[in-house]
Amino acid sequence: MGFEQVIKALRNSLPASNLFFEGEREYEALNGSYLSAMESDIRPAAIFRPESRKQVAKFVKIMRPFSLGEHGEEATVRFAIRSGGQQPLPGVANIEGGITLDLGLLNSVELQKNGKQTVVSVGAGARWGAVYDKLDGTGLGVTGVRSASGGVGGLSLTGGVSFFSSREGFVCDNVLNYEVVLASGEIVNANEHENSDLWISLRGGGNNFGVVTRFDFRTFPQPGKFWGGSVFYFLSSWPYHVGALLSELRKKDAADPNAHVQLSIGYSSQFAQFACQSQLSYTGADATESMPEVLKPWADRHPQIEQLNSVRLMTLREAVSEQPAESKGNVRYVIIPLTRPRPQTNSAVRCAYMNVTVKADAPTLFEATEIFTNSLESVKACSGLMSSLTFQPYSVNTLRQTVRHGGNSLGLDPSDGPLINIMVSTYWNKKSDDAAILKYMSNATSYMRREAQRRNKLVPFVSMNHAWTHQDVIECYGEENKRALQETSIKYDPEGLFQRGVPGGFKLFNRK
Ligand SMILES: Cc1cc2nc3c(=O)[nH]c(=O)nc-3n(C[C@H](O)[C@H](O)[C@H](O)COP(=O)(O)OP(=O)(O)OC[C@H]3O[C@@H](n4cnc5c(N)ncnc54)[C@H](O)[C@@H]3O)c2cc1C
Repeated sequence: MGFEQVIKALRNSLPASNLFFEGEREYEALNGSYLSAMESDIRPAAIFRPESRKQVAKFVKIMRPFSLGEHGEEATVRFAIRSGGQQPLPGVANIEGGITLDLGLLNSVELQKNGKQTVVSVGAGARWGAVYDKLDGTGLGVTGVRSASGGVGGLSLTGGVSFFSSREGFVCDNVLNYEVVLASGEIVNANEHENSDLWISLRGGGNNFGVVTRFDFRTFPQPGKFWGGSVFYFLSSWPYHVGALLSELRKKDAADPNAHVQLSIGYSSQFAQFACQSQLSYTGADATESMPEVLKPWADRHPQIEQLNSVRLMTLREAVSEQPAESKGNVRYVIIPLTRPRPQTNSAVRCAYMNVTVKADAPTLFEATEIFTNSLESVKACSGLMSSLTFQPYSVNTLRQTVRHGGNSLGLDPSDGPLINIMVSTYWNKKSDDAAILKYMSNATSYMRREAQRRNKLVPFVSMNHAWTHQDVIECYGEENKRALQETSIKYDPEGLFQRGVPGGFKLFNRK
């Protein structure tokens, strides 16, 4: 009953041609274009694709009484908010039987002068590749994801690490202004001067406060090319690469803010073996034809799979094209699950991420490695399995940028750094393997957590972007941040539309 009323109301006020229903070609293409088939398995009753922020505002106003259950439980129709659809957690950006608000058509990218600062204004449904295209040749850089197909919306509300994060901080810390449609349908800006509590809350608070229709990012000078690429090697060299990362992060005179190194170890059931990758970047303006000293410990280390070494001077566009979705069929992306080629639409591959954050401590990281390799035994036979362990560093300088750029809600303290976010990610083929794989991943990450805690090296933070349902992300931000987020919700969304009416994602109240 409620659904028919909602659709009638939406059709009366919004372009009917932007509403898609089950069985229609557009619906199937859109619903099949999530990163993970687990998210595509969810079937919304309809998908709405707004073309402007005004249409988003109208949509929210129409949905509000239905989503809040004001017409009775039977007439309740909830909704989900989707930008890129790249976060694999089922139900985070899609909703069974409800309406999915797909922001894909809000994809404008514009450069604007704001005093001395150049700002890149990005529609919530844009992909990072379009942002990098816009900046190409301008001598400017922006903190964005390391994949051209990555979604802007989800990443910029949850943290996010870029090639530039050692110097410029998390992606969310670089958002100068969020344009937001609130639960009332009002369109507001949230920045340092206007609605600053909302601005800080959105930096890590996900979809809890409204629909963000535009993100204004700071840019910074990034002339010419920088050093990027990867080194691939086998498991026996992993301890050396981890040790080199820790030495760099804990340097007495501070880690090089221009260097960023991410390490992954992956297992593929197809090849029945482990392989490792060190993804390197050096973004200093002083980059020349000769490799920066700081990258040599990884780039020049042997043995390595020499024919796959891709470390070189490159543009930002080239660097993000090294990522899987843009490089189909290359063997290096087959041996490393993390960088597996991803279909852009009609994904048939299932995927999950879980993560834990620890201090940059060698025994803790080696323990995590052992837990990963041992735990995998239980699922090695699963069809199409590719599972990886990634060490994503948060240098002290990365953490300091949060303060420099006005703050966020993540609850990370530079005095705890350097930190390593440990992510386990898995891709597989069959729905019948879901339970076994999710159990393996949650057991492994819980074990890593317990061991890190036992060593006094655990940091509560969990990255929302890479978390799974059982991980209480908001609680992990710390009591003070959680309370501040709740206060923001009560102030800007007193009836709790984005808590009860938009159930996907990590909510602020009553998780326990
Ligand atoms: C190949 C590859 C490479 C990657 N590299 C990196 C990397 O370098 N660094 C990194 O940090 N991550 C990386 N990731 C993770 C990935 O970038 C993020 O998961 C993704 O960008 C999430 O954004 P999205 O727009 O796709 O979110 P969606 O999946 O669309 O949504 C995620 C959540 O955000 C909410 N949301 C989205 N947009 C809005 C909005 N406009 N308003 C309100 N709520 C919203 C949704 O409701 C949902 O809860 C990578 C992923 C892949 C597949």
